[in-house]
Amino acid sequence: MSLAHGRPYLAIPGPSVMPDAVLQAMHQPAPNIYEGDIVTLVEGIVPDLKRVARTEGEVAIYIANGHGAWEAALSNLFKPGDRVLIPATGRFAHGWADMAVGLGIVPQIVEFGTKSPIDAARIEEILAADTAHEIKAVMFSHVDTASSIRNDPRPLRAALDAAGHPALLMADCIASMACDEFHMDAWGVDVAITGSQKGLMVPPGLSFVFFNDRAKELRAANPRVSRYWDWVPRTEAQAVYQYFGGTSPTHHLFGLRAALDMLHGEGMEHVWARHATLARVVWAACERWSEAGALKLNLSDRGLRSHAVTALGVGVGNGQKLRAWTAENAGLTLGLGLGMATEEDPNGTGFFRIGHMGHLNAHMVLGAVGVIEAGLQALQIPHGKGALEKAAEVVAQPEAVAF
Ligand SMILES: *Cc1c(COP(=O)(O)O)cnc(C)c1O
Repeated sequence: MSLAHGRPYLAIPGPSVMPDAVLQAMHQPAPNIYEGDIVTLVEGIVPDLKRVARTEGEVAIYIANGHGAWEAALSNLFKPGDRVLIPATGRFAHGWADMAVGLGIVPQIVEFGTKSPIDAARIEEILAADTAHEIKAVMFSHVDTASSIRNDPRPLRAALDAAGHPALLMADCIASMACDEFHMDAWGVDVAITGSQKGLMVPPGLSFVFFNDRAKELRAANPRVSRYWDWVPRTEAQAVYQYFGGTSPTHHLFGLRAALDMLHGEGMEHVWARHATLARVVWAACERWSEAGALKLNLSDRGLRSHAVTALGVGVGNGQKLRAWTAENAGLTLGLGLGMATEEDPNGTGFFRIGHMGHLNAHMVLGAVGVIEAGLQALQIPHGKGALEKAAEVVAQPEAVAF
C-alpha cells in the first residue's frame, strides 16, 4: 500500500521546493512589459539580489538556466584562445569547462577528485608559474552539487594575491547561493553566478551573473561579445525591454520578488544558519546509518560538506532502489547520484543525494530522514540504528552553529 498521496516533496538538489507565496505571486494576468509596475519591480529586484550575493557590483539577469549563466559569464569575458584555470571537485567544474571549450576558450582542469576540496596551494603554484599572465580566470564551484563538496573561496583569493596574479576569481554559486554563507565582495570573488531554482526558491528559468569592476574592465577589452549574452545592456539599459534583451520573464520576476521578500524578511544570516542547522539534522541521521551496513557519506569531514546537498553511497543498486521506494511509497523524491560511477558501479546506482536547499524547515527534513529510514528498513538495506533520534536531537537543541 502506497502512502505517497498528499503533498509531494522534491528533495533533489534543485529544482527545490517552491513556496506557496512564490507560486501565488506568479498567478497573475500578463502585465504591460514596457512601462508601469514592471519598471519598479525590476528596479527593486536588482538591489535585493545584490544583497543576497553580498556585492556592490552589478547583476545581469538572464532568461536561462544555470548553463546559460555559465555561458553568459564566459561570453562576456573571454575570446577564443584565452586560457582559464578550473580546479574540479566533482561534476560541475567539468560542465563549466565544457561550455568554455564550446566557445574556443582553453580550460586547464586541475582535478581534485570527488572527496577533497580544492588545494589552494596547488593553484598558487600554477599561478606563480604563469609569469606571462596567460591565465585569465580561476573558475570553481563554490558547492559541487554532485560530490557535495563546499570550496571556500577565501584561500583561492589568497592564492591569487600571493602569486600576484591578475586573473579573475569566478564562482559557480548555483547550488550554494542563499544556502551557504557567501560574501562576494568581502571574499574577493570577481564574478559569481547562480540560478533561480535552488536556494532562490523560484522555478527554473532565470539565472544571474554578478560581476565587479575588474570583470567590467575585461569585458570592455573583449573585442566581440554575443549580443544576447552581453551584460552591458542588462545592467545599463533604461528600458526594461532592452534590459532583458527582449520580452522580460514577467512571471518569474513576480515569483522572484516574493522569494527575495522571504529571504530578506528572514535575514540572510538566519537563512545561512537555518541551512547549516538543517544540514546537521541530515548528517546526524546519515552518520548513524553509516555506523553499520553499506551506507556512507561521500565526505567524512563535516567541514567540507555543503549545507545544501548531501551525497551518499549505499551499495551497488541500492541508491536507485531507495529512490524508487521513497517516491512510490512516501511521496519523497531524492536526487540520483551524479558523477560518482566506479568500476564496480558503472551506472552509479549505488549513490543518491538529499537536497536540503531553499524553502525547508525542521519538519520537512525530519520527514525526509524518517522516510529514508523506512526505505532502508523496507528494502532490508543494513544500516545503523538510532538515526531518527539523533536527527531529532539536533532539532530539539539547535546549537548556535557557525555557518
Ligand atoms: C544546478 C547546477 C548547475 C546547472 O544548472 P542548470 O540550471 O541545470 O543549468 C551548475 N552548477 C551547479 C553547481 C549546480 O548546482
